[in-house]
Amino acid sequence: MFEKIVIANRGEIALRILRACRELGIKTVAVYSEADRDLKHVRLADEAVCIGPAASAGSYLNIPAIISAAEVTDAEAIHPGYGFLSENADFSEKVSQSGFVFIGPRPETIRMMGDKIAAKKAMQAAGIPCVPGNGDPLGEDEETNLKMAREIGYPVIIKAAGGGGGRGMRTVHTESALLNAIAMTKAEAGTAFGNSTVYMEKFLEDPRHIEFQVLADSHGNAIHLGERDCSMQRRHQKVVEEAPAPGITEEQRKQMGERCALACQEIGYLGAGTFEFLYEKGQFYFIEMNTRVQVEHPVTEMITGFDIVKEQLRIAAGEPLSITQEQVKFTGHAIECRLNAEDPKTFMPSPGVIDQFHMPGGPGIRCETHIYNGYKVPPYYDSMIGKLIAHGDDRASAIARMKTALSEMVIDGIKTNIPLQQSIMADAAFAQGGQNIHYLEKKLGIH
Ligand code: ADP
Repeated sequence: MFEKIVIANRGEIALRILRACRELGIKTVAVYSEADRDLKHVRLADEAVCIGPAASAGSYLNIPAIISAAEVTDAEAIHPGYGFLSENADFSEKVSQSGFVFIGPRPETIRMMGDKIAAKKAMQAAGIPCVPGNGDPLGEDEETNLKMAREIGYPVIIKAAGGGGGRGMRTVHTESALLNAIAMTKAEAGTAFGNSTVYMEKFLEDPRHIEFQVLADSHGNAIHLGERDCSMQRRHQKVVEEAPAPGITEEQRKQMGERCALACQEIGYLGAGTFEFLYEKGQFYFIEMNTRVQVEHPVTEMITGFDIVKEQLRIAAGEPLSITQEQVKFTGHAIECRLNAEDPKTFMPSPGVIDQFHMPGGPGIRCETHIYNGYKVPPYYDSMIGKLIAHGDDRASAIARMKTALSEMVIDGIKTNIPLQQSIMADAAFAQGGQNIHYLEKKLGIH
């Protein structure tokens, strides 16, 4: 096992990684921006290095500064967390070239998954069900493109190979709009991602978002930890996540989970990862693979009793997976509410000083946050300030525990989305489970 690693992230996930390291006896180096001196994990880490200014371009995205921090502290590995450099193939390559271990998949894997066309082709080859549409780059021939859309059937979606973060996509409902939409998506993709390649697939109108968690080691073993439902979204951002996904049968879980684990073996995947699917009318359609730990990993941890971050560290250190597929057992139901420093109605970020913070508790409650009394939420980063997770014997008891926990939680001084989360937990359709990805926006009156 490593003796010392660098945590190349901030906020709740940096603290989460620090805790996993402590349990495993690994020393930690926090790297932080000038705006983040007071982060909780910076105070708890064995060593801390300031890597640049508040703006993340100069700090959390500053590859040479992070690698030098590893050099000066004599660390062995770098954990990228999520966001920032976690899915940057050049970063993982430079980390390895500088003699450190990148805690995540190989650069080639990250690069392949970052290109939607390459990812779709690899998944099709590995037997993962994909959205209808062959995934080939669209050429200039208008007749060919019109024919392809007719064959797939409208509506179709034009997607940029290099797109990300919900950008670089255009839905087309009628033939008359197709050619113009292709031209516009190409032009935008060229400007935004430096790659104007686009492809076409079926647009699914009312899908749910269901994803599978996988883990693969360097000895050729791969397992899945079941699925999560992340359909409660606003502007393609997840707001509530849960595991298991309502209505998914044991049979479906086993079949899709095993396919994902097999695909990992086929592509030589390493570490923790997530296969994201759209799910409609009983069918799964692959959309993308996230090659990192995800914000919502705790719901899976709660129903499996398994620590995903500790396993990432073990895998990166070359150890074999610590459990087999047969040892993975699912118990009860878990729900996660993301806590954001924002106005619950307008969604405007609400940075500032937290005058009072009371953490909820009780059976089945887990609170992942770096905030504390007097902590100042800086305006420079994502507005997520933590996550509240509730586990219960079944979905209804997880919701009941979440309601109690939300009502106990006090975060004063800034605005938070706690009222929004309370309204979701009290929503009758949410209580039924299985709503699609448009449900929350409809409820909020956005559509
Ligand atoms: P990104 O990398 O930008 O997040 P994804 O391919 O994961 O792109 O797609 C983001 C979101 O766009 C999905 O969660 C879904 O809401 C929507 N989307 C993407 N492809 C389709 C599709 N074929 N049909 C319907 N919605 C889609």
